[in-house]
Amino acid sequence: MRKIPVLILLILLSVQMVVAQEAIKKPKLVVGIVVDQMRQEYFYRFGERFGEGGFKRFTEQGFMMTNAHYNYIPTYTGPGHASVYTGTTPATHGIIANNWYVRSLNRSIYCAEDSTVTNVGGTPENGTISPRNMLTTTITDELRLSNGKRSKTVGIAIKDRGASLPAGHLGDAYWYDSENGEWMTSTYYYDSLPSWVSGFNTKKVPDSYLSQTWNTLFPIESYVNSFPDNNDFEGPFIGKDSPTFPYDLAALKENNGGYGMIASTPYGNSLTVDFALAALEGEKLGQRGVTDFLAVSFSSPDYIGHRFGPSSVEVEDNYLRLDRDLARFFDHLDKTIGAGEYVVFITADHAVAEVPSLMVSEKMPAGNFNSGTALGQFRGFTNAMYGEGNWVLNFSNEQIFLNRELAKDKGIDFEKIQREVAEHALRLKGVKESYTATDLRRAEFGLHRPHLLQMGYNHKASGDVLLVLEPGWLVGGQRGTTHGSGYSYDTHVPIAFYGWGIKSGKSATYATVTDIAPTLSVLLGIRMPNGTTGQPITAILD
Ligand SMILES: [Zn+2]
Repeated sequence: MRKIPVLILLILLSVQMVVAQEAIKKPKLVVGIVVDQMRQEYFYRFGERFGEGGFKRFTEQGFMMTNAHYNYIPTYTGPGHASVYTGTTPATHGIIANNWYVRSLNRSIYCAEDSTVTNVGGTPENGTISPRNMLTTTITDELRLSNGKRSKTVGIAIKDRGASLPAGHLGDAYWYDSENGEWMTSTYYYDSLPSWVSGFNTKKVPDSYLSQTWNTLFPIESYVNSFPDNNDFEGPFIGKDSPTFPYDLAALKENNGGYGMIASTPYGNSLTVDFALAALEGEKLGQRGVTDFLAVSFSSPDYIGHRFGPSSVEVEDNYLRLDRDLARFFDHLDKTIGAGEYVVFITADHAVAEVPSLMVSEKMPAGNFNSGTALGQFRGFTNAMYGEGNWVLNFSNEQIFLNRELAKDKGIDFEKIQREVAEHALRLKGVKESYTATDLRRAEFGLHRPHLLQMGYNHKASGDVLLVLEPGWLVGGQRGTTHGSGYSYDTHVPIAFYGWGIKSGKSATYATVTDIAPTLSVLLGIRMPNGTTGQPITAILD
């Protein structure tokens, strides 16, 4: 009899302790930052001109993993954002590309497409967006699930996929309408815009940015770590003969996407910070006695990076200006939430390849792979081998989708077709390796390119023959560049944490972007996303 009160007392005490621990041991806010297209090396190449309050918070006060990589192919924006927030790769979360061919529909779908929803704010063509194609939970979902959905989660990006995938299935997402310059959402989230969003839209902030001239932050001759501003490797805007500063946006915008042009300038980052701060205020994030999550993705570095390439003055200037925008963002968080009361991580959804034509002009191996020509080759080969027929249904993201039904009808072994097409593909210039779906299902690849391919291979959604191009090769045009490969120039990205619960330091231990979500799970004391394959980063947590 005497034991019971003691037991009850112990239970009460432990409940009190748990409550007390929870009250002390959680940050007020988690800020996730994904820079769309950022190489780890930018911290070093541009670092000497970073100010004190932006990127340097991560290198000087935070913890940086200097050898962090994507661990799958293809390294695109949709899969990148999904992988950061789900802690797993396309093999599991199902976002296998930005767009991919779906056999049952006989068409390609967009990663964040959802025909069952419509626009709220913005314009209809930009409103059919939700995270429904993502097959697992996110760290943002798990935070909400951990406390009866008292935590709020807000995803923000100019690109819809950069907002909706990080916000997860349970969060709110807002993206930028390139048609009318509004921030918008879809009926997946809301039936009408929250008043702070419509209030922000009435200020017409994009108009003021688009009336400016983008010039370099410092004298242009001081950009010595980049190639000369005028060269043949960068894509000029329409209406301007050369890819050179200054850029008069008021004059250029009409022929370069109107409101959408802001995405191709550093002002897209400024606008994103403006809107993130409006969300902080409008939703009172981090100011409600429970941990909230603000997931911000900066889309502009990707638009600028594609057009001008990683060695351009434009990319360098974008990062110097993004540094200032981050400082403004963090200073505001210090004031509103309190320094040390919030935790931030920064990463990228992929890095980027050097412009192939620049590589070639410098006598380095590189090239452009023409998908259309390759598709013609595969069609010619299959017709010659197996008789006239629609053997190749689709070729996209370096994956060949073959016609299983036709093979069955004609009584031809489907695996044999896969093998022969894969063998044939090796004849094409620029193709380094080829794998069949059967290889990827039956064998387990632990290392190198086939491992990365396997981590990106989804049994239900991926193609029948998967190609790996040579280093430096990509599907693109004569000017500008892209990303998507499993080579280090595309996979090596920043992973750094700063703020609440984070000691300062750095580590060159190999880490992957799928480790970010489980690291946050341990830090926050919540479940890992339900498809997690990454591991908590012990260098940061121990
Ligand atoms: Zn891109």
